[in-house]
Parts: sequence; structure tokens; C-alpha cells
Amino acid sequence: MKKRVKPLNSERTRARSGRDLFTLEEESGWYGLPFSDISPRLKLSVSERAKRMALRLDPRSRLVHLVIPKRASMRTAYLFAEQNKEWIREKLRDLPKQVPFKNGEVLPILGRDRTIIVCYNPALKTTEITLKKDELIVLTNKADPSVRIRRFLIDLAREKLTEMALEKAALLRRRIMEVQVKDTRSRWGSCTEDGRISFSWRLIFAPAKAFDYVVAHEVAHLCHMDHSDNFWRVCERASRDYEEGKSWMALNGHALMRFGNITS
Ligand SMILES: [Zn+2]
Repeated sequence: MKKRVKPLNSERTRARSGRDLFTLEEESGWYGLPFSDISPRLKLSVSERAKRMALRLDPRSRLVHLVIPKRASMRTAYLFAEQNKEWIREKLRDLPKQVPFKNGEVLPILGRDRTIIVCYNPALKTTEITLKKDELIVLTNKADPSVRIRRFLIDLAREKLTEMALEKAALLRRRIMEVQVKDTRSRWGSCTEDGRISFSWRLIFAPAKAFDYVVAHEVAHLCHMDHSDNFWRVCERASRDYEEGKSWMALNGHALMRFGNITS
């Protein structure tokens, strides 16, 4: 039996794999089998389409999905997971280290490493966050300002992504109706036929070339709604050396999920 690891967070993979996974909610009983001994980060997911058992790592939730074809038995699923126990542990161990929004942690924001500096002062009325060249300064009355930091970064991502998308759309002589930022699990960006573009706010942690590529990609969809040769030619006009950003996203995109707290 083959193990397959699919990054769940690229547009292409999503388009191909579709949405046929259903995570089983029966967690406490684990069907009378000690699945949780294999790994507490194992999730059982039943698939309508899968023909064989597979293990899929979801780097964002830091879970390994055991994909079980609809007709397979739980016992077979358990044996499969048990046989691949080492693989599961290795994959989870090799995930990039998580970086919480806490004092002293370093975040790559807009292509530059910035250290979070939290100055706690209970006398302050509000939290004030400023992006400096090498630091993210957080003046706060909160013991845990991580939610504020996240909100600040989402707003900053919205501002920068919108700015760049409008610039590129002007270059291609196309109109954008709306730019939204979301906390998407499955894609870095999307574009509708009527010109509404969405991005993952986590692109704020990507290097400049990758950020540029993702924006160019979605804006290029205003010209072509497919991934044809014509589409890639437009993409190139919008981002001259997009290949580098494209391969960075394919290789490292999942690592953008490691910042902040995990939500599974
Ligand atoms: Zn696309």
C-alpha cells in the first residue's frame, strides 16, 4: 500500500482532489481500536472516492489524516496506520517549528525578519502596534496580546495585498471589484469571474517574490480563468520572474501556516 502526502494548500491540488473527505467525529471511542496510541495527531477521514488507504499530512492543523475508503473496515485502517507508525511520527516531527505571537519571537513580515517586542503596561488604555525595520513593537495592557498582533498582521496583509493587486490590475488594464483577505486552509488566493479576489493573510510571511507571484497569479485570472499557456503569459507580464516565487510557494508554502496559534 502506498503512502501519499499531498499538500492540501495549493490551488492545483485542491482542484484535483476535490472535497470528498469527511472527518469522523467519533473521537472518544476510536471504534474500540487504539488509534490514538499510534499518534494523538491522527484523524480518521472517510473518503467517497479513495480506492486505497492513504496518509495525508495537513501542515496547518498539524494533523495526519488517515484516509479510509468508504467500504474499508476500521480494523484494516488501524493495521495500516500501525504499519506506518514511524512514518507518521517522522512527518509530524519534521514539521517546521511553530512560532507563536509572543515577545522575542521572530516573524518574517513582508520579506524581512522582525522581532516581536512586547512592552506590557497595565496603565495603557489600548494596544498600539508599530511595524519597524527589524521589530514589531507592541505597547499593550494585555497579558496576552497575540489576538491583537494577529489582527494587526491581517490588516497589514489586506493593505499590502490590495495595493499590489490594484497596481497589477492597472498594468493589465483590468478592473478589480473587491479584494478580501481570509484565513483559508486550501488555497493562497482565488479569483471570481466578476473580479473578486481573495488572498490568504498568511502571505504576509512569504518572501517578496512569492508574495508578488501569488498576487500576479490571481490578477492574471482577470484575463484568463484557466491555467492555459495564455494565462501564464499574462502572469509573466504581471510578475516578471514569477517562476521563482511559484517554486518557493510549491516547496515552502505550507511553512506559512506555522505562525500564530494552530486552529484545527
Ligand atoms: Zn489559478
